[in-house]
Amino acid sequence: MEPLQQRIQTIEEKISQACERAGRNRDDVTIIAVTKQVSEERARDVLDAGMLHLGENRPEGLLAKQHAIPQGAVWHFIGNVQSRKVKDIIERIDYLHSLDRMSIAKEIQKRAVEPVDCFVQVNVSGEDSKSGMTPEETEEFVSALRDYDKIRVIGLMTMAPLTEDQEVIRDVFKRLRILRDQLAAKKMQHAPVTKLSMGMSNDYSIAIEEGATHVRIGTALVGSESEGDG
Ligand SMILES: *Cc1c(COP(=O)(O)O)cnc(C)c1O
Repeated sequence: MEPLQQRIQTIEEKISQACERAGRNRDDVTIIAVTKQVSEERARDVLDAGMLHLGENRPEGLLAKQHAIPQGAVWHFIGNVQSRKVKDIIERIDYLHSLDRMSIAKEIQKRAVEPVDCFVQVNVSGEDSKSGMTPEETEEFVSALRDYDKIRVIGLMTMAPLTEDQEVIRDVFKRLRILRDQLAAKKMQHAPVTKLSMGMSNDYSIAIEEGATHVRIGTALVGSESEGDG
């Protein structure tokens, strides 16, 4: 398998090309290296290779990686979180990508000391298997968060369906961008909603063409333990 530096370089090239096609600035896209499938050691190598933003999707994984990497990283929690687990992670993360219900918001309000930068997760594709609220529910939910001073809604997050059909994927990203634009236009003080967390290993180029500011890349960047990379 390719060494880490080479993988990063390949991804950087694709991101630059996607930015160029879309007339966007490379600096407006943040890569989150999703380390959920690899060891603490591998996560540290990823940080040493210059990837400062790391993403985990389970509290246990987050704690294990943070134990191995006490400083230097920016932490993104990208997975579905149970209300009773919010207290375990909320003071340990820089961004939450998966705010998708009021029970989580209430728990953040109760447990956080400082305001937390959150993305509201939207199930644009409408698949049963996906977390997130419907696009129709999103505006009311975001508005209601004005009473929660421990939550800052900085953007929206979605996951594209698992399909080879690039146009289906593109349409999902496009719809999230339109929803983002509608919410941003409301200029809510607690909810600037300027960011878009979308795009994974298989679809980050499309996501960037459609306006992603945060791409969450796992297997293409860090590999997975089963690949047996050294
Ligand atoms: C695992 C995961 C990713 C990364 O997926 P890859 O296909 O490995 O790039 C991104 N976002 C979320 C929410 C994930 O759970």
